[in-house]
Amino acid sequence: MQSAMIAAAVKQLDEYYSGGATRPLAWRKQQLQQLAKLIEESEHAILRALHEDLGKAEQESWLSEVGYLQTDITHTLKHLSKWTAPRKVSTPLVAQPGSSYLQPEPVGTVLIIGAWNYPFQLLLAPLVAAIAAGNCAVLKPSELAPATSTLLARLLPSYLDNKAFLVVEGAVEETTELLKQPFGHILYTGGEAVGKIVMRAAAEHLTPVTLELGGKSPCIVSQDCDLETTAARIVWSKWMNAGQTCVAPDYIITEESFRPALVEALKRKIDAFYGTDPAQSQDYGRIINARHFQRLQDYLQGQSVVAGGQCDPQTRFMAPTIVLNPSTDSPLMQEEIFGPILPIITTAHIEEAISFVNQRPKPLALYLYTRDPALEQRVLTQTSAGSVCINDGMMFMANPDLPFGGVGHSGMGRYHGQWGFDTFSHLKAVMKRSTWFDINWRYPPFSASKLKKLKWVS
Ligand code: NAD
Repeated sequence: MQSAMIAAAVKQLDEYYSGGATRPLAWRKQQLQQLAKLIEESEHAILRALHEDLGKAEQESWLSEVGYLQTDITHTLKHLSKWTAPRKVSTPLVAQPGSSYLQPEPVGTVLIIGAWNYPFQLLLAPLVAAIAAGNCAVLKPSELAPATSTLLARLLPSYLDNKAFLVVEGAVEETTELLKQPFGHILYTGGEAVGKIVMRAAAEHLTPVTLELGGKSPCIVSQDCDLETTAARIVWSKWMNAGQTCVAPDYIITEESFRPALVEALKRKIDAFYGTDPAQSQDYGRIINARHFQRLQDYLQGQSVVAGGQCDPQTRFMAPTIVLNPSTDSPLMQEEIFGPILPIITTAHIEEAISFVNQRPKPLALYLYTRDPALEQRVLTQTSAGSVCINDGMMFMANPDLPFGGVGHSGMGRYHGQWGFDTFSHLKAVMKRSTWFDINWRYPPFSASKLKKLKWVS
């Protein structure tokens, strides 16, 4: 769509929204069912597009994108009636007789801006929440995953209500134009720099924003962990999608004395999952583009590589790579890696991991592998992160009852399950008073005895 047409298109959605078509529960359910139908009927095309964009294996794409979204829709359909119902709260004595509740209402036309690394799921999971809440939506897929973007722009209009939903493909120019429009809410997924652009633009219209950003997610591994399971789960969560996952463990912190055993266990799992030559593995992804490939290759300059390190710029292949004790001033430890390099930082005692984490911006996710409940409590109470997963990586994403979102520099706001419904709703506060009697204590003329009675009931 040309930028000049964007304002008019968004206005049309707003008009449709104002007519009330998106509010009935039946409409919301029907749109969600249509989305489920789209996924079912186009599963192969979706998996092909994801492979084209990121070299993702079918099973990985199914688990992290297609199947994930199907579960999300099923969960939403199952609970939608309850989520949309008024939520009763108590009413204080001073307002008796009366009742109070929260009435969820849609917020209008919302803007969803997706990122390239899970280009299908990151655009459509927020859409599920936006539909559930009864909104219209504009979807902006990432231009860096063009196969998925084109497919979504083609498929969505054939399944969903075209008057309520619009896909705008494009890059900076189109997004900039979109951000000039007044929306009921903006949910942005991507990096911090653009997050600030989105928030600045939203401020012009006082539009609420959810920023799903990234950062360096630490992985604390204590020597009392279950080594084999820990290694398997770290390798799975780090090298899924070739490390291009916002909640991938960015780096490991472990005790120096435990480091040799951990490195060996990680290498064994890398071999077991991807073979001795991961370039030949059908199950290992590729880096999204040449710019990101170069950025990752530069990170390796002068580092102590103890596993992997092989790179092929032609195919944008970078092997699962482990780096030992990089300088904390190096770009590898200053920037979010977002690729298949796993630095290991060693300390004398695992407790030092807590201050290491606390000296850096609050992460999106924090992982802790330990069998020590006391260490678990210390890490939980003394650090901050969007989400914490103990003894696994990324699995918290599979629970729709847990909110997903960052804190501090890793983002603001949350979605998934009812949290997403609430994000795209306004929870209108309603109090209903009865009129069968009306105590006059709050009305002028004031008096000492009225004040005394007010204090008594307050
Ligand atoms: P990206 O390049 O795909 O950009 C994200 C979106 O911003 C795209 O739709 C793009 O068109 C738009 N955009 C880019 N430049 C813009 C500009 N100048 N003005 C307006 N819009 C613009 O993705 P990215 O930023 O490379 O994504 C990687 C980052 O996203 C990482 O930090 C990662 O951790 C984070 N991420 C977070 C989550 C999450 O759910 N929290 C998920 C995936 C990725």
